[in-house]
Amino acid sequence: MRRPVPKLAPMTETPEIITRFAPSPTGYLHQGHAYSARQAHDFAREHGGRFLLRIEDIDRGRCKPHFEQAIYEDLAWVGLTWEEPVRRQSDHMDDYARALDVLHQKGLLYPCFCSRRDIRREIANSGRAPHDLSQHSPEGPLYPGACRGLTAEQTAANHGADIPYALRLDMNKALEMVAGETLTWTDLDAGEQTATPELLAGLLGDVVLARKDIPTSYHLSVVVDDHLQGISHVIRGQDLFHATHVHRLLQYLLGYDTPIYRHHGLLTDENGDRYAKRHNSKTLKHMREHGEVLGF
Ligand code: GLU
Repeated sequence: MRRPVPKLAPMTETPEIITRFAPSPTGYLHQGHAYSARQAHDFAREHGGRFLLRIEDIDRGRCKPHFEQAIYEDLAWVGLTWEEPVRRQSDHMDDYARALDVLHQKGLLYPCFCSRRDIRREIANSGRAPHDLSQHSPEGPLYPGACRGLTAEQTAANHGADIPYALRLDMNKALEMVAGETLTWTDLDAGEQTATPELLAGLLGDVVLARKDIPTSYHLSVVVDDHLQGISHVIRGQDLFHATHVHRLLQYLLGYDTPIYRHHGLLTDENGDRYAKRHNSKTLKHMREHGEVLGF
């Protein structure tokens, strides 16, 4: 009697698809957020994957419980479902401290005691016009690096005087550590991308990774969380495309895998303006309370 041919298991298992939406409860969400959340949610659902919601609430001064509550109500109103428990960054400060320590041990951090006003003054003294675009990163004025060369004594004196400080990533040292390796990522819309030293050092400068009062930053905590939560696809707006250059570098320095990215186009309102908290865009809360429907 002939035996049935056994079915072979596939040689490689398809990695699990995990996406996330990661809002900050510093205000009410608008339609741009709803669009972005839906992009990440639908991608996971279409691929039999998992969709996570993460509350990015490291800035305890600006984040408010009623904004966080509205996030849950808004996203449910949009028709999304997500896994519980939701990760709230403020519950995981130890994770960010550990990552910061890895970078500190590699000698890649330095304390910067400059206030915003100091930075503006330093730029003005450099003789460049204040509107010179080369002095502005997408995150504000490009930090010229005054504190990079502080001596140990100056640093100790500033700490002794209890001057507030930020811990910055020494981009030149970090890039030396990369030493000729090409850091790439796959971007579903834009294709293969290379994180370039010019973009990292020239565009963003020595990014802030922690502050005295908030011992982590957006860049650090987002990279740590995407890693710890096993996010396979980071789907977010094009306004964060520049940040992916920094995130790719941090993944390298921290020894993390790199997820696949997709930076979707930004939704605009009837005037062609981007939805934004600072543009006073109509909130999802207002829309659901007034029986309005989403415009996409
Ligand atoms: N928390 C960020 C924001 O609200 C988004 C983080 C991300 O998607 O990488 O803009």
